[in-house]
Amino acid sequence: MTLLVSARFTTTVAQMHQLPVDGLPEVAFAGRSNAGKSSALNVLCNRRRLAFASRMPGRTQALNFFAIGPQDQPNGFLVDMPGYGYATAPGAVRESWIGLAGDYLRTRQPLVAVVLMLDIRRGVTALDHGLLDWTPVTIPVLGLLTKADKLSRNQQQTALRTVRAELALRHPSRRFDLVLFSSTHRIGLEEASDRIAAFYRLTQDSDHSDDPDHPSADPDQHPHPDNAV
Ligand code: GDP
Repeated sequence: MTLLVSARFTTTVAQMHQLPVDGLPEVAFAGRSNAGKSSALNVLCNRRRLAFASRMPGRTQALNFFAIGPQDQPNGFLVDMPGYGYATAPGAVRESWIGLAGDYLRTRQPLVAVVLMLDIRRGVTALDHGLLDWTPVTIPVLGLLTKADKLSRNQQQTALRTVRAELALRHPSRRFDLVLFSSTHRIGLEEASDRIAAFYRLTQDSDHSDDPDHPSADPDQHPHPDNAV
């Protein structure tokens, strides 16, 4: 539970050339607007308003980087991606989202994992599938089924099975890990934190090899959690 608590806002990236060049592993947080990403970030990092940093003017359509780990030697970055899917978003906003987020997901070498917020009552939407299509299949995806408190235990299990089946059908080559999650009721908090921390640790462990400046994106270097779907 401790690694993410160290998160602190570091930088905003509005264009690809502004991305950090140090090669530290990055875990991206993504999801539809209103899926509960800000709430999840705040509770996972144990800050009431951590994600507030991403809502400052000029930052809402950007990638916001939070360093985690020791101040002098961070373990990596948590990357808060702009929410997508606002029905009312003007075309230009949508375009810029697709440009930056799409390029980032498709090409970013230090990206080691994506944490995808899925509102448990909506399941996987077409836009979520689109995001997964952009993300190289070698990148593990942790799906947080957010707002699980809104469903009964039985309904939660049904939703979990449905999402798992749909992801397996639509993205057969990708490994997913799913966690029932609620920021308000602190469901799945520890499990999600541990899994996210493991993404950074796995990278460090596999980083000993040949090129310390470029953590490997080789899928074999990032074993998936045992109970992945
Ligand atoms: P974002 O747009 O993805 O950052 O979503 P927010 O974190 O701002 O949450 C969107 C709405 O969902 C807000 O009204 C939150 O209060 C609500 N919400 C977020 N997480 C939870 C949760 O775990 N349980 C419940 N019941 N509501 C939540």
